[in-house]
Amino acid sequence: MPATCELTVDLDALNRNVALAADLAEGRTVLVAVKADAYGHGLVRVARSIQQAGSAQWLGVATVGEAVALRTAGIALPILKFSITLHEELAPALAADVTFTVADAHGIDELAQAAAEAEKVAEAHLNLDTGMRRIGAQPEDAVALARQIVAHPWLRLGGIYTHLPVSDTPDGRNFTREQFDTLAAAACAVEQVAGPVPFIHAANSGAVLSHDLANTTMVRPGIMVYGSCPDPATPTDRAPEPVVRWTARLSFIKRVRSGETVGYGRTWTAPRDTWIGTVSVGYGDGYSRLLSNRGRMLVDGRSVPVVGRVCMDQTMVDLGTETPSVSVGDEVVLVGRSGDEEITVQEMAGLMGTIAYEVTCLITPRVPRRYVGGMV
Ligand SMILES: *Cc1c(COP(=O)(O)O)cnc(C)c1O
Repeated sequence: MPATCELTVDLDALNRNVALAADLAEGRTVLVAVKADAYGHGLVRVARSIQQAGSAQWLGVATVGEAVALRTAGIALPILKFSITLHEELAPALAADVTFTVADAHGIDELAQAAAEAEKVAEAHLNLDTGMRRIGAQPEDAVALARQIVAHPWLRLGGIYTHLPVSDTPDGRNFTREQFDTLAAAACAVEQVAGPVPFIHAANSGAVLSHDLANTTMVRPGIMVYGSCPDPATPTDRAPEPVVRWTARLSFIKRVRSGETVGYGRTWTAPRDTWIGTVSVGYGDGYSRLLSNRGRMLVDGRSVPVVGRVCMDQTMVDLGTETPSVSVGDEVVLVGRSGDEEITVQEMAGLMGTIAYEVTCLITPRVPRRYVGGMV
């Protein structure tokens, strides 16, 4: 069935961005974050494409459900679950061969018990809080927790890691460098009592793009793989390339007289006689209502403003005073290129007052994902 609104994901571009991360990581192991349906791009298709291309060695998820979906689809790459796993989730997570994140003695205990019951060795990465204040043990507790892990026959210490809240902006340079140093010191102390730890990691996209990765052996990029920098101010000369093109169609074209209003709430009044186009996308597709009277779209290489409020399924644009060269059924670009014009995910995020991550996460399941490139 032909779609009137669709998201095209270029898997070749995505894998080139993974390769960029690998290049910047200079031989370190690459884990790609595929949580939240691969930031809205499609969990299984993205993971399969990465696995087939061999562009990364690990995947990162947030939930057990995501890990189960990957295993069910035949994904064999190791999967790190970034979040704490609750007691009742341990058995299904073990069955999905998840690598666990642990951050306190109680959690390690529970995991050990679940692993013993399942008669399955559980691999754990110890998460340290070096400044994010989200999850993580205090760095000074790292040695004791590592001892607890290696002492248990059903547990293995696969890694030590931390997370970086300000790696993506110039202001965050020193704070981030101190976090890397704290992690390195804790990892060194752990290795003295527990032996070599394979994966020591901190770098999200911001750090991959703009920081010295010394003393780490793995990186965890997400947003850069999907084609955006984490922040417009991320200092880098190796920007990732766009991965998505989001399109809809013109469903109606009409003439509106000067002084008439367009849409719910009558928030836009035509300043002159003009042509209004109605586009087959709305907030029900994830085209945010925050773009009302603020967004723009591309029609036949021309930029046209969103006028009036974005509706659930339809949005109006001002095509201008000239008789439109476009007709009903023509493509409208919400994100991507048309002629010499381009709308980036980052631009849309700026207009919505949010970050690139949220723009693609918000695109709802109603919008079919179409995949180009990649090996099939
Ligand atoms: C989401 C996430 C990442 C990826 O972050 P980006 O900013 O998208 O590169 C890395 N590590 C952890 C723990 C995460 O939760």
